[in-house]
Amino acid sequence: MADPIPTAPDGADPSFADLIAARPSLKMDALDGLLLEEVPLHRIARECGTPTWVYSAGTLRRRYRALRTALDDAGLAATIHYATKANDAQAVLRVLATEGAGADIVSAGELRATMAAGIPAGATVFSGVGKQAEEIVFALGQGIFQFNAESAEEIEMISAIASGMGVEAPVSLRVNPDVDAGTHAKITTGRAENKFGIAFEDAAALYARMASLPGIRPIGIATHIGSQITGGVAAYREAYARLAELVRGLQAQGLPVRRIDCGGGLGIPYRDEIPAPPEALAGAIKATLGDLGLPLMLEPGRWIAGPAGVLLASVILQKQAVNRRFVVLDAAMNDLIRPAMYEAWHGVLPLSPVAAKAETSPADVVGPVCESGDTFARDRALPMLDPGDLVAFLDAGAYGAVMSSTYNARPLAAEVLVDGSRHAVIRPRQTPEELLAHQRIPDWLDAVPAAPEPAAS
Ligand SMILES: *Cc1c(COP(=O)(O)O)cnc(C)c1O
Repeated sequence: MADPIPTAPDGADPSFADLIAARPSLKMDALDGLLLEEVPLHRIARECGTPTWVYSAGTLRRRYRALRTALDDAGLAATIHYATKANDAQAVLRVLATEGAGADIVSAGELRATMAAGIPAGATVFSGVGKQAEEIVFALGQGIFQFNAESAEEIEMISAIASGMGVEAPVSLRVNPDVDAGTHAKITTGRAENKFGIAFEDAAALYARMASLPGIRPIGIATHIGSQITGGVAAYREAYARLAELVRGLQAQGLPVRRIDCGGGLGIPYRDEIPAPPEALAGAIKATLGDLGLPLMLEPGRWIAGPAGVLLASVILQKQAVNRRFVVLDAAMNDLIRPAMYEAWHGVLPLSPVAAKAETSPADVVGPVCESGDTFARDRALPMLDPGDLVAFLDAGAYGAVMSSTYNARPLAAEVLVDGSRHAVIRPRQTPEELLAHQRIPDWLDAVPAAPEPAAS
């Protein structure tokens, strides 16, 4: 695949033109402004209002296929299990289901979502450090492909539940290889101090224990070292080399190993990062695990969904403070939390072809929520913007809508899918009534007294 990557000499932000050039699904039309595939985004904003998430089906397909091709070309027998938590919209899942994707899930809710969209439980891996008993029962009942167990305690729990149900649970061990993925602290998962996985030193003994337990069929080894990994494939290589060593040790003990789950985490360029292409990841897998001749699994989330989405927002006003221009949008941290949570950089593009060519000056891009953290960008080169002008946050397809909240009693934004020249609302904007609909006031709380009559003057 290898999308072109914007180069930013001297560390400057990429220009609007660079951002668009690096994203095959985006185009700036001289009349219609910014297009996602063939659909003018201002038309979606007019029809649905803002803030609105818009996803490109073509991008989801293109990226899924690029990954598929990279694995196939490397001669790897690997299945792709899309990490549902990156974007669990039914329509997004359906696009990937029709491509033949399996799923990686971290809750029974996600399993319901993937099955409803057409991804079979038999192609789904259940990850996560805290699977609850009823979730394990549900997943076993649906015929889950594999559990990735993260602790000795969890293995005992799965064993007890599965033998009680008279079934065998397919279980892989998620091993923590103690490598530094070189990503943001909040999304690094493969260090010894992280809560994830089983310490490398304990893995072999635990795997042997697993083989002796009723209700458990040992499947293999899994790992996932972090997210938004952009420092090449060195960390992957290191982690997979450790897995290979572990698997050889297990095989030498006569323990069955049926497949290896390589996790997700491949990064995308938000600004000027140069993440490894899928061919490099496939090469790292081949070099470290290829000789074992075992089926492999991959759990990409962000790499598939991130570049497929934008978040549309309208300018409420520009506020000129002392030495600082604030562009206040109707989108906020409750919609897109990545800048507040991970100091993430997202491209911000005006939708208007005129604005995109106008002279720029630095501005802070903020939302209306009552937190200083509600800042999307600082000192961003933007043209002067008027109330009602539209902008798009780029690469908002992963860890965007799924992480939104209704903080400040702001309804959840609408979601739209674009496919070629077609578009459709896949989730209408939450209404103010829906925000209040499921709340109750206990009847033992006093009614509000009638307002006193205003004193006669
Ligand atoms: C989040 C997660 C993924 C996907 O991570 P990305 O960075 O989105 O590719 C894969 N596997 C597990 C176990 C995860 O928790």
